[in-house]
Amino acid sequence: MPTNWAGNLTFAAARVHRPVDLAALRALVAGSRQAKALGSGHSFSDIADTEGDLIDLGALPAEIDLDTAAGTVRVAAAVRYAELARTLDASGRALPNMASLPHISVAGSVATGTHGSGDANGGLATSVRAVELVTADGDTRAFSRDSDGDTFDGTVVSLGALGVVTHLTLDTVPAYRMRQRVRTGLGLDHAVEHFDAITGAAYSVSLFTDWRAPRFGQVWLKQLADAPAADIPQTRPADGPLHPVPGVDPVHCTAQDGVPGPWYERLPHFRPDFTPSSGEELQSEYLVPRTGAAAALEVLAGLREAIAPVLQICEIRTIAADRLWLSPAYGRDTVGLHFTWIKDPAAVAPVLAAVEAALAPLDARPHWGKLFTTDPERIRAAYPRMADFLAMAEECDPAGTFRNAYLRRLMST
Ligand SMILES: Cc1cc2nc3c(=O)[nH]c(=O)nc-3n(C[C@H](O)[C@H](O)[C@H](O)COP(=O)(O)OP(=O)(O)OC[C@H]3O[C@@H](n4cnc5c(N)ncnc54)[C@H](O)[C@@H]3O)c2cc1C
Repeated sequence: MPTNWAGNLTFAAARVHRPVDLAALRALVAGSRQAKALGSGHSFSDIADTEGDLIDLGALPAEIDLDTAAGTVRVAAAVRYAELARTLDASGRALPNMASLPHISVAGSVATGTHGSGDANGGLATSVRAVELVTADGDTRAFSRDSDGDTFDGTVVSLGALGVVTHLTLDTVPAYRMRQRVRTGLGLDHAVEHFDAITGAAYSVSLFTDWRAPRFGQVWLKQLADAPAADIPQTRPADGPLHPVPGVDPVHCTAQDGVPGPWYERLPHFRPDFTPSSGEELQSEYLVPRTGAAAALEVLAGLREAIAPVLQICEIRTIAADRLWLSPAYGRDTVGLHFTWIKDPAAVAPVLAAVEAALAPLDARPHWGKLFTTDPERIRAAYPRMADFLAMAEECDPAGTFRNAYLRRLMST
């Protein structure tokens, strides 16, 4: 049985399938009592697992159909952002943002509310205009931002609960060029006091700390190529290329030092042909309202002696508010507090619990695809449209074909 990318989970599915066309996929789903679509397997939790039929869509045609008049692209679910981005750029089009890695599938990323950074940038799911899926009875169904209004907002970040997505249609923007620069030595006090100025200093900003000291060792600034270089007071330019995880070769990373390049080779931190991040890790992330940024950083600083021994790196990013029901940025400008842990679940577990308890008063929402132990009731309460989403899932999937252990935990009382 396959494992997820991190290797911390061996899928429990009884069978793995790779349908080669839509008809085979529809027949497979219609004949299955328990099924789940697998994207590129980059989630750390069991969100993509099932007891029954795990469906890898990688053998379906990898369609990427650009509609130049509408400025949209219709993309097959399993296509990865690296491939989509190269194809769009070759046609003079782009996406407004990307995650830290381009290795992930479009449908899997959208389903979990995956995001990059930037005060004005929504998560990747906010680009979605239309969703096409196969429902549990094997029928096809489509939802569109143009015709389904409020209902559409529930279908995008879906946790795989509504059906097997076959295609997504995304908005695109004209292609652009960017420069990436890294600055070092940002003190925690300065970061807290000037948080808005720092995250507003570039198109996309990431602050990295190992919490061994109260400072951000690296600040990554991704700017449009013709924007003047951002200066963060009290920091200095990096001496050369850096990897966010101390000790890892920066050859894995996208070009820094202000060298201009296409958007898709600057927005992700990691290059598609190299291992992203450290490769030996677990990840968690909590998304808090931006208004709680200073409080959240102070909470984490207070826990840094517990966090640092099991941490590889912590990344702070900003995400614009959106209207997608299960998006971690639903209804609020957001700050993401990301942790790349050492690959030792037993050592990480108590620290995770301590971080969750300390962030709970800040109304933290855990990243759907990363590790968390948050009480399901608390998660449901954090999403004002959760009841509507669960009703939609029930309507699309009355027999619970796509309801795996992860979703059953989320729904449990
Ligand atoms: C090194 C690394 C770096 C990361 N960086 C970021 C980051 O910068 N920002 C961020 O937000 N996250 C990040 N993540 C998390 C990652 O983006 C999410 O876990 C994302 O879901 C991975 O996409 P995937 O295709 O691997 O999905 P999978 O893990 O395969 O699946 C995730 C969910 O999507 C569903 N799904 C997949 N395909 C379909 C489909 N066709 N139809 C219906 N449901 C489907 C699955 O059933 C499951 O519920 C990172 C992960 C790793 C390993």
